[in-house]
Amino acid sequence: MRLGVPALIALALAGCAANPPVRELAMPRSYAHGIGGATFLVGGGFDPGRSPDGNSLILYGPEGAFVVDSGRHDEHVTAIMQGLSGIGMTPVAIINTHWHLDHVSGNPALKAAFPGIKVYATSAIDDALTGFLATSAESSRKALAEGTVPASAVADVEGDLTTIARGAELRPDVVVDEGGDMTIAGRPLSLRVAQRAVTERDLWIYDAAEKRAIVGDLVTMPVPFLDTACPEGWLQALDAVAASGAEQVVPGHGPILTMTEFGAWKSAFADFIACARGTGALETCSAGWLSGAKAFLMDDQRAKSMADYYGELIRSGKLDGYCRA
Ligand SMILES: [Zn+2]
Repeated sequence: MRLGVPALIALALAGCAANPPVRELAMPRSYAHGIGGATFLVGGGFDPGRSPDGNSLILYGPEGAFVVDSGRHDEHVTAIMQGLSGIGMTPVAIINTHWHLDHVSGNPALKAAFPGIKVYATSAIDDALTGFLATSAESSRKALAEGTVPASAVADVEGDLTTIARGAELRPDVVVDEGGDMTIAGRPLSLRVAQRAVTERDLWIYDAAEKRAIVGDLVTMPVPFLDTACPEGWLQALDAVAASGAEQVVPGHGPILTMTEFGAWKSAFADFIACARGTGALETCSAGWLSGAKAFLMDDQRAKSMADYYGELIRSGKLDGYCRA
């Protein structure tokens, strides 16, 4: 899949403008933006020709800070570190919403910098390390050897190979395969587990005090990233988010959403899945996505080529294995 165009970070930052920082950060470049409720957003990027970083968040409580998702590229991890030092708190934990490399690759660097850190995540990464990630490493090595990786992507592909080689270091210290109320850094949170959604098991967070759902890749821009997904399980997880009592949704990629915006994204998602599961022309599915998600898109051409790709992935039945228990 060749992608060319916008930087989602612009969208992510736009989501911050309406939310004044709770605490000013002392740092030269303001990557981490306060979004209220002792929470900072480090917007993930998605530059043309490169692999994305997921959004990260820094939250703090009476006993320290913690990070939700650790990005992929060094510059994203650096932005998290700068955010942490701006707050002046030592992180005690990382929560990984899911094992995709744009959300977990920063774990080893953060653990090295802060040896006390404990990673909270589901155990789904274990199967991924011997399955999807092992297979994708093998095809990446082959593509590099054959010179078929576009020049702009070589560094990303090599970086991902290094990360996968250290896969054991990405695994959770605290396995959260069942949802439940928890206190992290002295801050109460509800961790929710979605089965067979973006991955075999995803975590999302409901912060009841802020009426905020932090949902990882259950919401992504410019299209749903369906690579390892069960589309129907994902829809069920979106229903659970809608019913959570949240007034705000922080996606894995893209800007913070109001519930009205989340509802629009969710119904565009449902329509896209139904269309791709049907028998009509796949172009109508992509066109439906572009129109349903119009409010969230900066570059229709990029969104269209990605929607075409994921529509075909659903239609081909290649995702059906992810729906089986
Ligand atoms: Zn992601």
